Amino acid sequence: MFDAAIPPASARERIAARGGRVTRTRLVVLELLQCSEHPLSHDEIGDALAAAGVAHDRVTLYRTLDWLVEQGLARRIAGGERAWRFEAVRDAAHRHAHFHCDRCGQVVCLEGLEPAPATGLPSGFHVDRAELVLHGSCAACGLGSEAGRVR
Ligand SMILES: [Zn+2]
Ligand SMILES: [Zn+2]
Repeated sequence: MFDAAIPPASARERIAARGGRVTRTRLVVLELLQCSEHPLSHDEIGDALAAAGVAHDRVTLYRTLDWLVEQGLARRIAGGERAWRFEAVRDAAHRHAHFHCDRCGQVVCLEGLEPAPATGLPSGFHVDRAELVLHGSCAACGLGSEAGRVR
């Protein structure tokens, strides 16, 4: 269970190592992302902070996430419907693809699937990062539709 009262040293150290100010919001958000098994949306992060009794406002949360992404501590993933998802970066060299379920909206990490290297680029083009987000239905939603249930 996520406990905002005791941010572990790892999140604190990682923020301090970037020369950043160790604020409670940064600590709690990074810790939350590190503990989550799947990328979280702004709303999910906001709800988790509220549930943990951490006072915050939307602007602070957006800025905190932007800062974590700029520092390479978190990664932004394009979810559907113009909603970004965020996950902690454990290893900067490790990239993986994501799966967006178009039915329930969940974004799942596909740890075993790497975004393919870009080939056939026009000359003069240079890739800084590549993201692969697959769209479809997750196992739970797929089963639901096979059984003819309507969600
Ligand atoms: Zn689903
Ligand atoms: Zn992921």
